[in-house]
Amino acid sequence: MNKRVIVLAVLGAALAGASLYGQFPTGPSKLDTIKVRDDLFVVHNAFVPGNSTVLVTSEGVILVDDKFPQDVDNILAEIKKVTNQPVRYVVNTHHHGDHSGGNARLQAMNVDVVATEAARRHFADAKQPGAPTVTFDETAYLQLGGTRVELYHFGRAHTNGDLVAYFPAQRALAAGDMFTFGADVPQLIDYAGGGSAKEWPRTIDRVLQLDFDAVVPGHGNVTTKAELRKFRDTTDRLRNRVRELILKKASRAEVEKMLRSEFNFADLHIGRSLDGLLAELQ
Ligand SMILES: [Zn+2]
Repeated sequence: MNKRVIVLAVLGAALAGASLYGQFPTGPSKLDTIKVRDDLFVVHNAFVPGNSTVLVTSEGVILVDDKFPQDVDNILAEIKKVTNQPVRYVVNTHHHGDHSGGNARLQAMNVDVVATEAARRHFADAKQPGAPTVTFDETAYLQLGGTRVELYHFGRAHTNGDLVAYFPAQRALAAGDMFTFGADVPQLIDYAGGGSAKEWPRTIDRVLQLDFDAVVPGHGNVTTKAELRKFRDTTDRLRNRVRELILKKASRAEVEKMLRSEFNFADLHIGRSLDGLLAELQ
């Protein structure tokens, strides 16, 4: 299996997990840790390039996204390499199992899980374990050890419950799957999860008003605000291309072909996004 096939297979399992929890990959991923700032790290999967963001404070750790259940021990081991502080809060950027699968195990260790109310509703609908216990609609602030994390839901994008975690003192942002970086991980609009290609560019426009340099994408390497701006334009182009074909009365197969050739969509992305795109942009 090449790297790209593994990425797609695992993302597929992750999404299936939103409704069929238990169909996740069985083994833990190999992890490594990247230093973004003195107090900010990313725990990165070597082969499936998913990201968890770790903010270290003098009173504990805030962890943004916790991968699959079987990854929790390795995430905690990676955190131990940079601090002895315990994890105090987990933030889920959205409900998908590759970002929230560790919740139940961490909650058993008295960690509070924070997400949007829309994300929590997806947990409830799918009877997905580890539902967040602290939720908000638009804005929440976490203060720990004199450090502040700002959580924003700016609108629909990958799902209807996406949040970004903004670290003002670190000038950094954890974007979740609203931003996937690199050709190996094409954009996925999870219509069943409330995603919207129509609203996606506007949602990123609001994110771009925050003041930051470093961006942790949901999948892919840590990068810059300029790359997020480029990705915003890709979401706009995707929306416009689909709309253009619909206006030309193109067939479903023609739209599919365009998404595969111009936006690198694979079976997973077609399956999850095509019907929703055609319905939303008609
Ligand atoms: Zn996702």
